[in-house]
Formats: sequence, C-alpha cells, structure tokens
Amino acid sequence: MPITTELTRMLGITHPIVQGGMQWVGTPPLAAAVASAGALGMLTALTQPSPDALREAIKETKRRMGNSRGKFGVNITLLPSISPPDYAGYVKAAMDEGVEIFETAGNNPGPIIKLIQSYISPNADALPKRYIIHKCVTIRHALSGQKMGVDCLSIDGFECAGHPGEEDIGGLVLLARAAKELKIPYIASGGIADGRGLASALTLGAAGINMGTRFMCTVESPIHQNIKEKIVASTEQDTVHIFRSLRNTARVFKNAVSMEVVRLERRPGGAKFEDLRELVSGQRGRKVYEDGDSDAGIWSAGITVGLINDIPTCEELVPRIVREAEEIIRGVSASISIDGGQEAWD
Ligand code: NAD
Repeated sequence: MPITTELTRMLGITHPIVQGGMQWVGTPPLAAAVASAGALGMLTALTQPSPDALREAIKETKRRMGNSRGKFGVNITLLPSISPPDYAGYVKAAMDEGVEIFETAGNNPGPIIKLIQSYISPNADALPKRYIIHKCVTIRHALSGQKMGVDCLSIDGFECAGHPGEEDIGGLVLLARAAKELKIPYIASGGIADGRGLASALTLGAAGINMGTRFMCTVESPIHQNIKEKIVASTEQDTVHIFRSLRNTARVFKNAVSMEVVRLERRPGGAKFEDLRELVSGQRGRKVYEDGDSDAGIWSAGITVGLINDIPTCEELVPRIVREAEEIIRGVSASISIDGGQEAWD
C-alpha cells in the first residue's frame, strides 16, 4: 500500500519522496529514474551551463521517462557563485518547456519566487498551475516563504549536505517547530536516507521527505562508481563544514581538499574567498564525480553517508523506503501502549 500525503496528492506523485537538487548530480538520467520510480525527480538548473542547455536537459528527461507518468521539477539554488548565473533565464526556459514544479533554495529567493508565480510562457494561453517547494534552514525563512505563497516548504536540518545556513538547528527541532508554526505542507530534508527517516518525518508532521546523498548512491546517479563505493564505505564521521568563517557554510565530504580549506580558514587571520577559490571551485569538484578520485576537489555529502550501505536502482530504492517506513510505523504502533491505563505504568 503506498503512503499518500498532502505532498503526493498535491503533486500527483506515488510516493512522498523528493530527490534533492544536487549540483552536478541532478541530471536527466537520475531525475528520470526517480520520477519513473514514483517519487519526484529533480533537475538542477545550475548544473546546466545555460538556460538553453536546461531546455535540452528537460527534453532529455521526458524522453528517458517514455510513457511513465512520473513527475520531475527543476531546482534553482541562489547562493554565492564564482560566475553569477542567469537565474531568471533558467526559470523561463523551464516554464517554456512546461515544467510545473520548482524547488527554490538559498539567499533572497523572493524575486525568483515571484517570477515563477507570474511568468506566462509564450507557449501558454494563461498562467498555468505551478508548484513551488521552497527549501529553508530556519523557521523564520519558512514563514517568509509561506507568506510569499509557496506551496510547500522543505525544512532542511543541520544534518544536510551542502549549505545548512549559519544557525545549526537539527532536523528534529526544526520539524517540531514547523509542525507548530506552519500552515502549509512541509517536507523533511537533511539526515534522511531510509524508511526509518521517512517514518520519523511523517510523525513530525511532514508530508514527505527530500533525500540528496541517498540518491547520489544509486545505479542511475551520474557520478563515478568509485564515489558511490566511497559513500558506502563511509561513516557519519566523514563530512566536514567548510566556509564557516565566510558565513556560507557547506557540509562536504572530508578529504584532502576540504581539510586544507578548513586549515586555511582556521589559521591566524583566517582566509578570504580568494585564498580558497582554486581549492573549492565547483568545476574542480565536478572532476571528482567524472574521474572517481574522491580527493580531487570539494564534493557535497550529508551525514547520511553513515546510513548508506548499498547502490540500488531508484526502482528498488524508492518502494523499499516506503515499505520500511510502513513496517516501522506498524511495528511501533503494535509495540507501545498508549491507552493501557495504569497497567502500562506498573
Ligand atoms: P562555484 O564554483 O561558483 O563556487 C564553489 C563554492 O564556493 C560554492 O559552495 C559557492 O557557494 C562558494 N562561493 C562562491 N563564491 C563565493 C564567495 N564570494 N564567498 C563565499 N563562498 C563563495 O559553485 P558551483 O559548484 O559551480 O555551484 C554553482 C552554484 O550552485 C553555487 O552558488 C553553489 O553554492 C550552488 N550549489 C547548488 C547546489 C544545489 O544543490 N543545487 C549544491 C551545491 C552548490
């Protein structure tokens, strides 16, 4: 039996699982495989070199999905960048190609959210329905996303890969706060890689989960096999935060390059971005995924690396997580006594 939630009903997906929008990883093969497995696939806009390249990636994703009725969206992340991207161009390209679902994340998303809400593509007669999932790392930002009229929030705990913000609040507390404060559906992001995570997120009031690192380690993920095997061999001790001193914190895999960045940031006088630029460049990090040398550059990874022990296909992984969550929810209900009265306490 599938688990249906506000998220599955809103987006018309089978399972309440969203693939994270990962730089260099959210490409057509992965987004199509996740979508075909009944979860929400996600193309990462900035992984494509231009809005036109994103159009082609969207077409390729649709081609790969064939007759599958799955859904995918486009991630737009707004963060400091060595070459500032044409965010608006990416949004328009996606809408012109008929994309209805967007994940926004990062700093000052207001103008991009407004553009997504108001843009009418030349191919459309009227404003089409579109859904925005806005990812944020504080309740304050979640409330402003809600005010801006986004459809769903993705509440990203400190456990996450990539940029967790600067306030260091773990998912348990963030989600419990979300349950009290938010009026719109939210999903749990950061620290989730299995059915136990999905079950926990649902009991914390979330309508689903977002997983990045877990989907990196699947057959269809476009990264080198060596890196998938490195994830399988890693523990939750194997990530580190860089850019703490620049207030652009990012959780990345602990390797020679990330430890050098941390060393430079911690030396007396600290480091300016220019001192780190060559080490941290995304183009260099990309080589890790292409060549399979895990020490070649910076690559994002969440502490869920400690929970990942295999490299399944998306078609195996997605239903497995749902099945595990169902079993855990049933098992917990059967093993605890809520209305056992005094006897339960004797
Ligand atoms: P990049 O090569 O432009 O930059 C590499 C890293 O340095 C990134 O973490 C970036 O945020 C950081 N950075 C760049 N300029 C900075 C500055 N002036 N001060 C402090 N930090 C700075 O990054 P890229 O790998 O080509 O990625 C392009 C953009 O996508 C970046 O903004 C990056 O943060 C963002 N990103 C998105 C995702 C995602 O999941 N969609 C994941 C990782 C990074």
